[in-house]
Amino acid sequence: MRLDRLLSLSPLYSRRRSRLLISAGRLRVDGDVVRDPRHEVSAFQRVELDGVLLQAGRSARYWMLHKPVGVVSATRHDSHRTVLDLLDEADKHELHLAGRLDLNTSGLLLLSNDGHWSRRITLPEQRKPKVYRVDTEQPISEDYIEVFARGLYFAYEDLTTLPAQLELLGSHRARLTLFEGRYHQVKRMFGHFRNRVVALHRERMGEIHLDPDLAPGQYRALTEAEIASV
Ligand code: URA
Repeated sequence: MRLDRLLSLSPLYSRRRSRLLISAGRLRVDGDVVRDPRHEVSAFQRVELDGVLLQAGRSARYWMLHKPVGVVSATRHDSHRTVLDLLDEADKHELHLAGRLDLNTSGLLLLSNDGHWSRRITLPEQRKPKVYRVDTEQPISEDYIEVFARGLYFAYEDLTTLPAQLELLGSHRARLTLFEGRYHQVKRMFGHFRNRVVALHRERMGEIHLDPDLAPGQYRALTEAEIASV
């Protein structure tokens, strides 16, 4: 939210008065004087006027979870356990998922209460790589590489998928790097070859790799470097 808007939410300050106060250098955001009324502040920042607290700033939370097969990527569900059930954190109901995985997909899932951060890693325009290990029913041939690199037409969305990179790891196993996250995208791409995906595991999102020390169902806080990489 813009700083002048945040200030004018208080009945004490009109929008005009807010702008004057800001231009006069009386506002601090995270300790620094800000003189631009259009300066964007997040809910996680501390805002003071003449040293008096206006917004304390919530603490931002960032977790990585090794999602097991059979747990739903949702914060609520009527019949299945959800990924939130795996977290033992008091404020877990403030979290949202930064990208989902299907019920029968395992691997890296990111959770946060910072919506701006999550959008940076999930929006297709951001072109962040999502890396999957894929096991299939039928053999995977070299032809797939070219077809996935060209992009596939998805009639339902009326779009062509962005160029994707395929690395063959074995006769029935490959590593696929996508730069977007369409609905059931990996399964639909292999479906083009009538090849069913029998196991799917997400290894990486952006520069964040699933920690090999996390067993399925375990989680940990992201490091400063992992948070800053997004
Ligand atoms: N693509 C899929 O088909 N499923 C997932 O869970 C993730 C990507």
